[in-house]
Amino acid sequence: MLKAYKYRIYPDKAQKEFFEKTFGCCRFVWNKMLEEKLEALRQGKKVPRITPARYKKEYPFLKEVDSLALANVQLQQEKAFRDCFKNPRHFRIPTFKRKKDKQSYTTNNQQPKNGRETIRVDFEKGFLYLPKIKDGIKAVFHRKFEGKIKSATVVKTRAGRYYVSILVDVQDPRNDVKEPKNFICGIDLGLKSFGTIVNDTGSLKIEYPKYLIKAEKRLKRLQRQLSRKKEGSKNWEKARARVAKEHEYVKNARGDFLHKLSKTIIDESQIVVVESLNVKGLSRGNLAKYILDSSWSKFLGYLSYKAAWYGRTIVAVDRTFPSSKMCSKCGYIHRELRLSERIWKCPACGAVHERDENAAKNLKNYGVVYISNQ
Ligand SMILES: [Zn+2]
Repeated sequence: MLKAYKYRIYPDKAQKEFFEKTFGCCRFVWNKMLEEKLEALRQGKKVPRITPARYKKEYPFLKEVDSLALANVQLQQEKAFRDCFKNPRHFRIPTFKRKKDKQSYTTNNQQPKNGRETIRVDFEKGFLYLPKIKDGIKAVFHRKFEGKIKSATVVKTRAGRYYVSILVDVQDPRNDVKEPKNFICGIDLGLKSFGTIVNDTGSLKIEYPKYLIKAEKRLKRLQRQLSRKKEGSKNWEKARARVAKEHEYVKNARGDFLHKLSKTIIDESQIVVVESLNVKGLSRGNLAKYILDSSWSKFLGYLSYKAAWYGRTIVAVDRTFPSSKMCSKCGYIHRELRLSERIWKCPACGAVHERDENAAKNLKNYGVVYISNQ
């Protein structure tokens, strides 16, 4: 199965120039093909199939870059049209690419006759090798992979950083998956802490990292500053670069936190019970709430695909289930419970509950019943 690994890379001057050239040619080919296809559509004709080769005679500079990169542009654009015809509500007609957008190109791994693959990594020395580039590109490999490399996508972000995303055919991780210590756990996603987990042995609170909240607030502040600057001015350009940099930091740091957390949970439990989120209703008013809401939906996404990889089960409980208001001991529903009450006593059985822990217990109990009825 295919997995993507993303690393930061540090190309030298010549390598940067090569990347610029390749980005430029890919953009050029994309726009040329798009122009012809849109013209055909305007005339009521079928979208023609075009290969990059037809431009090479007229524009010989296209021959200087990695031809696989250009071939991938063709495939990407064909897919974009297919998606849009199939599902026009979700996918818009492809648009022209501009130089100031994020730049990228994808190349494939090939095994030439001498046996050396065209895309290689040297984890020890920290080098990435790509077709048509002489020397290794400095890279930070924060984690290793095992498997056959299929392709590599070089990306230059708007903040001017370079990354590579390597697609690897890895062994099915289910073959070496650990036995979970725990059968079932319930997770309540809350505002006071990111979440509360209850499993077979006890409960645990997960805090949303403070540095992340700080960074997300900083990002919002920078975005506000940017919006006050005159578009196109020097100061606007500077502010835009700061926003892009902070945005990248937040994205990576948050992804890292959510990936590690979801992996730990999936490693430890066979069945994970969560409340399904109403993603469309993400709150816009309160920033802290908004940050959490968007992280939760990401988190649930990571949980469910990791569950699929590692052969675990996710039970998503409908939002109408009264996980907070139900007493996890006797089942009484305490309708008068207010949001401000963190600790409450069940009027029916007298049990004292911590709000989020009680909710997580209810989710776990729900999961037990649900699974035994399967
Ligand atoms: Zn009770």
